[in-house]
Amino acid sequence: LEQKVKSLEAKLPKPYPHVKFLSYRAKKRILVTGGAGFVGSHLVDRLIMQGHEVIVVDNFFTGSKRNVDHWVGHENFEIIHQDIVNPLYIEVDEIYHLASPASPPHYMYNPVKTIKTNTIGTINMLALAKRVGAKILIASTSEVYGDPEIHPQPESYWGHVNPIGPRSCYDEGKRVSESLAFAYAKHYHVAVRIARIFNTYGPRMHMDDGRVVSNFILQALRNKTITVYGHGNQTRSFQYVTDLIDGLVALMASNYTHPVNLGNPVEYSIMEFAVYIKKLVGRNNPIGSTEAVEDDPQRRKPDITIARKTLKWEPKVPLEEGLMKTIDYFREELARSLNEGYT
Ligand code: NAD
Ligand code: UDP
Ligand code: UDP
Repeated sequence: LEQKVKSLEAKLPKPYPHVKFLSYRAKKRILVTGGAGFVGSHLVDRLIMQGHEVIVVDNFFTGSKRNVDHWVGHENFEIIHQDIVNPLYIEVDEIYHLASPASPPHYMYNPVKTIKTNTIGTINMLALAKRVGAKILIASTSEVYGDPEIHPQPESYWGHVNPIGPRSCYDEGKRVSESLAFAYAKHYHVAVRIARIFNTYGPRMHMDDGRVVSNFILQALRNKTITVYGHGNQTRSFQYVTDLIDGLVALMASNYTHPVNLGNPVEYSIMEFAVYIKKLVGRNNPIGSTEAVEDDPQRRKPDITIARKTLKWEPKVPLEEGLMKTIDYFREELARSLNEGYT
């Protein structure tokens, strides 16, 4: 037995050495859809460490079993391989609904599927919440603001989305998700929470997801040209994943039922970001400009007044610290893939 305990302890994620023991009353059964993905797997870590029982539902389109491998065999963890577009009947107290591809190349890969996941999948989860009386948090996105005409973006801004553009399957899919949440709250009194998540980065990001953080770090590590799309004056604000998890958990625990922006308000131009990553990785690779992408939002920065006030939340991890952890993760992943014969 001693050996089994030791081997289980060895599998626990390093920053969290102990799983809390919760009383029967305090312990919740929590469903995390998309729990094998980047954000989902960090949320799973947090909830299990808090002593809750967690059920992950994932179809492994962009997620990976490796992201939650350290919990396999733990009595508070369960994983179901299922597409949320299909109905799901289980009993839970809370639902974090994260299942959806998040990076532009992934969600554009099959736009019809992205729409189905965010509409039919969200209906299934809201109907599940309704049937069992569970609270449900919907992972929405800053993309509901489209290419914004207002800067920074408060939750009251209705957005500027091209309904037939290449990003619309995701943007409009998430907008429908929000509408559905409000309709279920109004009509069926389902307890909903809506997080409008801004660009998030950290370990377990997909290496080939084509997003700016993973592209630039990989290009720097491989000594290749850093590909800035267009002039590079477009801006983004980057939040470290543990800050987002703090925000999601605080939002679920709150009584706030309107959308809440969760993001880091420190804004960088993409060119500045390229220079910064190059400096942190410490290589001397060139930065090159390629063609701009269609409908690329030109400025993005969250107004987090509501999160500060109602959740007492704000991001804590500075960009340099978060990026160094992410760069270390990518270095290890690159070494692992080389050892396993991939390139
Ligand atoms: P991710 O791609 O790493 O994770 C998404 C997970 O959902 C994956 O494990 C994937 O396999 C699963 N999934 C996708 N379609 C599914 C389906 N039909 N059925 C079951 N599982 C399915 O992405 P992420 O960055 O972890 O994003 C998680 C959530 O947060 C998404 O809803 C995304 O829209 C939202 N979000 C993320 C960001 C960000 O910067 N990462 C920004 C805004 C919003
Ligand atoms: N559903 C589900 N799990 C549940 C309850 C419902 O997946 O626990 C699915 C159900 O199969 C249907 C959809 O959600 O496809 C809508 O369900 P229902 O008609 O009961 O809900 P309503 O439309 O009245 O909200
Ligand atoms: N970008 C870039 N080079 C890359 C990948 C992305 O210049 O290799 C830019 C992209 O055009 C956008 C920003 O970086 O302006 C953020 O892109 P990402 O795909 O990470 O996320 P988005 O915020 O657009 O969903």
